[in-house]
Amino acid sequence: MSVVFVITPHDRSAPAPDFDALLTRVDPNDAVLSVFDAGVARGDGVFETIGVNAGSARKPRSHLDRLAASARIMDLPEPDAEQWMHAIERVAGLLDPARGGVIRLVMTRGTGDGRPTCWITGEETPPEVREREHGVRVVLLDRGWPIDIAERAPWMLAGAKTLSYAPNMAALREARRRGADDVVFTSLEGYALEGPTSSLIVRTGTMLVTPTSGDGNLPGTTQRELFGWAEQNGFSTQSRRVRADEVRQADAAWLASSVRLVVPIIAIDDRTMQVDEGLTRRMNEHLLALG
Ligand code: PLP
Repeated sequence: MSVVFVITPHDRSAPAPDFDALLTRVDPNDAVLSVFDAGVARGDGVFETIGVNAGSARKPRSHLDRLAASARIMDLPEPDAEQWMHAIERVAGLLDPARGGVIRLVMTRGTGDGRPTCWITGEETPPEVREREHGVRVVLLDRGWPIDIAERAPWMLAGAKTLSYAPNMAALREARRRGADDVVFTSLEGYALEGPTSSLIVRTGTMLVTPTSGDGNLPGTTQRELFGWAEQNGFSTQSRRVRADEVRQADAAWLASSVRLVVPIIAIDDRTMQVDEGLTRRMNEHLLALG
């Protein structure tokens, strides 16, 4: 089952907006988007992907904060958090609570009249437990970026969740060509960065480390949630630069994202990694209890 609503952004000067009246449900098979929309023609827009448990969205506020941050980096109008929150709750309530789900928020630059095009989708999905249990083999792929990309070339929009994911998808195809499941990007200097759709977390002893988001990585909502939990559960956490060698030598490493949750890395470029099954299970249990 899938649900689609077009959202008309409300006029901020108008008092007491009726958010329901600004949500238009459309048939998922109907053509509702202009072929001239900048999101379609140029990938010029931002999005969020949110996991759903038992009819409620996981950490929706973190996603709305990041949607606003991405819009700011892209010079798009600020999304109204309350309006989007209303839409998220409406969609989550329409999905079968017995099944897992995914909600996507999309905001594009529109068709040129200065107004963004906004929509929200909800889909029921089978829970993706296979990779959570069996882990992923990753390859390190050069992203071709210096570690200071965000200051050096802000127009590359590193750190914003833009609709321009074609290079990320190409990297995943390259991983599959090489017999792997996923990717950890590296910078020109050999720092580990993130996956094409996930954050990287590395454990050494009781220290959990993630590559810093200021270095062009997307600030991961799952990683942030996990670090809060980890600090309450006997771990220390750090966000800093991480050399690729440090990942290879770590006691355990994971890819973290909102729908797949925490997935252990079982091999890097054919080198087997240790897997921390106990901590993987505990982290996923914590995430699955959110909502
Ligand atoms: N990094 C990139 C490039 C991503 O696309 C994603 C998620 O899609 C993440 C990190 C993880 O973010 P989150 O945990 O908020 O899903």
